[in-house]
Amino acid sequence: MSEPTRSALRVASVSPSRTYEMMELAAQLQAAGRDVVSLAGGEPDFATPQHIQQAAIEAMARGETRYTAGAGMRPLREAVAMKFRQENGFECSWSDMIVSNGAKQVIANAFLATLDPGDEVLIPVPYWVSYPDMASLCGATPVTLPTSARSGFKILPQRLAAALTPRTRWLVINSPCNPTGAVYSAAELRGLADVLLDHPGVMVLSDDIYEHIVFAPGEFATLVQIEPRLAERVLTVNGVSKSYAMTGWRIGYGCGPSSLIRDMIKIQGQQTSSPCSISQWAALAALTGPQDFIDTARRQYLERRDLVVGQIRATPHLLCDSPAGAFYAFISCEGALGRRTASGDLIASDEDFVRRLLEQAGVALVPGSAFGAPGYVRLSYAASTEQLRKAGRRIRAFCAELQ
Ligand code: PLP
Repeated sequence: MSEPTRSALRVASVSPSRTYEMMELAAQLQAAGRDVVSLAGGEPDFATPQHIQQAAIEAMARGETRYTAGAGMRPLREAVAMKFRQENGFECSWSDMIVSNGAKQVIANAFLATLDPGDEVLIPVPYWVSYPDMASLCGATPVTLPTSARSGFKILPQRLAAALTPRTRWLVINSPCNPTGAVYSAAELRGLADVLLDHPGVMVLSDDIYEHIVFAPGEFATLVQIEPRLAERVLTVNGVSKSYAMTGWRIGYGCGPSSLIRDMIKIQGQQTSSPCSISQWAALAALTGPQDFIDTARRQYLERRDLVVGQIRATPHLLCDSPAGAFYAFISCEGALGRRTASGDLIASDEDFVRRLLEQAGVALVPGSAFGAPGYVRLSYAASTEQLRKAGRRIRAFCAELQ
């Protein structure tokens, strides 16, 4: 007799999000009364700006509490088109746009709409945890493309050219990058665009979700802006989660070729329908209202980055470059491997390092292996300076005792 609740085969192709796992573990320890500094999560610690919250309240009071168009309401899609024109310098019609429950669902829709078994998704390493699992869930094969600390964790044109195969359906570009904070300059994107022009069968996912957290002024660039001829096969993905501290509102958007967007809308229509109407009104206020929050937040992230990098550089066995964007420090813990903690536990891997650091020093990070990069750990500095100082002291004391 067959097991009534047996899992579908595709379930085996995905693993739970390691970031969530670490956040939950830290929360459990905190609930049990342990003093844990959690720097595992990937979300701004700021409140959503007041005028955005107010727009949501007013939308509810006006009765904007019904389904909207499945692809998102037109005023929001028009506001996104305007954002792309004014901020990123490229044209995109509101009708070639989808609004989803976070950038995450935009990407999931895109993969579902295009991938078949045998297709490959080329993903530079280190990568955001969800790309490979999303590709696998569609029956496709995630193919990793190694980068090195020497190249600033960025792919070089010749390496890209060598990695593309006739099966490559998508290349993923994530700048600023989670977890490394790497930001591609316009010139670096130009180099990649030249390779891509020679490979007309490859689509590109440009995940720009950390666009506004770039520390060098004017450094952000996106592929379609650099090479408009690629617009017919680039999906530009962005959203309000990180820029406006709106992770819980779940609004992301994507703009791309009409046929792709049409298929994505079809899939979303049968899965979740429109994203939350109230959140869409809030996102509209975010995009069209005052933008000063973005600069204020960026300045704070910059201060925190410098604090964290300074602390890590003063910590034995750890190494860390100063990230150019996002709110993560990607730290090499290679120097700690093979050593033992004060209580005699061997640190054989980044996973061990993270586990022992949490148990013995009360700081939660995420192991680099979760991002395809063993020997590293990711620290999120979207936390108060006080918490960061405390974590820095604990990490340093923990490392200083390693034998
Ligand atoms: N892309 C990257 C690189 C991310 O780090 C995240 C969130 O952590 C997302 C996409 C998803 O963002 P959203 O909250 O809009 O779904």
